[in-house]
Amino acid sequence: MTDRLTLDDLPVRDELRGKSPYGAPQLDVPVQLNTNENPYPLPEPLVARIAERVAEAARGLNRYPDRDAVELRTELARYLTRTGGHRVGVENVWAANGSNEVIQQLLQTFGGPGRTAIGFEPSYSMHGLIARGTGTGWISGPRNEDFTIDVAAAEQAIAHNAPDVVFITSPNNPTGTAVEAETVLALYEAAQAAKPSLVVVDEAYVEFSHRDSLLPLIEGRPHLVVSRTMSKAFGAAGLRLGYLAAHPAVVDAVQLVRLPYHLSAVTQATALAALEHTDTLLGYVEQLKRERDRLVTELRTAGYEVTDSDANFVQFGRFEDAHAAWQRILDQGVLVRDNGVPGWLRVTAGTPTENDAFLDAVRQLKKEQS
Ligand code: PMP
Repeated sequence: MTDRLTLDDLPVRDELRGKSPYGAPQLDVPVQLNTNENPYPLPEPLVARIAERVAEAARGLNRYPDRDAVELRTELARYLTRTGGHRVGVENVWAANGSNEVIQQLLQTFGGPGRTAIGFEPSYSMHGLIARGTGTGWISGPRNEDFTIDVAAAEQAIAHNAPDVVFITSPNNPTGTAVEAETVLALYEAAQAAKPSLVVVDEAYVEFSHRDSLLPLIEGRPHLVVSRTMSKAFGAAGLRLGYLAAHPAVVDAVQLVRLPYHLSAVTQATALAALEHTDTLLGYVEQLKRERDRLVTELRTAGYEVTDSDANFVQFGRFEDAHAAWQRILDQGVLVRDNGVPGWLRVTAGTPTENDAFLDAVRQLKKEQS
């Protein structure tokens, strides 16, 4: 009977059989600190400006949008030049629907059937999932006990596997710590010696970091790509706007796989409006960094282990049963994330009130456990 049909009965690709989709729980609880969103709604003057720019775009919706998103890429390049410590132009920048799509386009271009990509796990699970979706083989590389990248082991894994794409997430998700420039340089050298391959530095959270962006490293390294997003620091996860900075040849290369007119006129108009309000939005980032640091201090005071954080979230533990602890925190109305890292959970920095509710819940949990 057709209504009993499940996806297992369909002729899906072999590598997708028995796999689960990305699925952070979207539960309706009072305090949601599980998907590393920015807790602050966009300020009203920006909302008004978006409405204005979108109205303008709406008048031209009978036409396809600018396929090359030149105005938007120019403004993104200006933002990167201002904040990233390196001058980039429109020719260095490419934009897509979230950095997930940027990563997908990179894997479609540089990975694919018969090719492989490596990441050092635990890290952002979508790197592996998008690899799978694009038919790219996935290699899970190692980390140290403290979740930093084990450079010698990583170099060895790259030399041994000769992957086509290398992912380095800085600051890393879900662990929180930024990667030193020397580590990126060492892995870039190893990747060039082994293949040469494309090295993607995923800087989704870099605006929250204690360290500088790794953007200047693209100079003279045509196989190095830095990927960014407006989902976190710009507080615009709903917008779906990610971008990359790299040698212009990389920007030319992704044109081979991008869908025509992939970035809607509404998206481009909204992102341009948000970029006009960069300074206000970066002000929220400063508040979130202070709250992030408060979470680290308070969690340690409460007796938890905490991984150093350069992001808008904090990894804390250790738990004998992380999932049971996740449930106990949820029972108190606070949703955090169980990323499946044994012994650890992750909390996103929210508003001061939300963070207070979270801290009350974990202090309570500590009492129950002692
Ligand atoms: N990279 C990392 C490390 C992330 O954590 C995320 C979002 N959680 C993304 C990329 C994707 O973000 P978006 O598609 O919203 O730009």
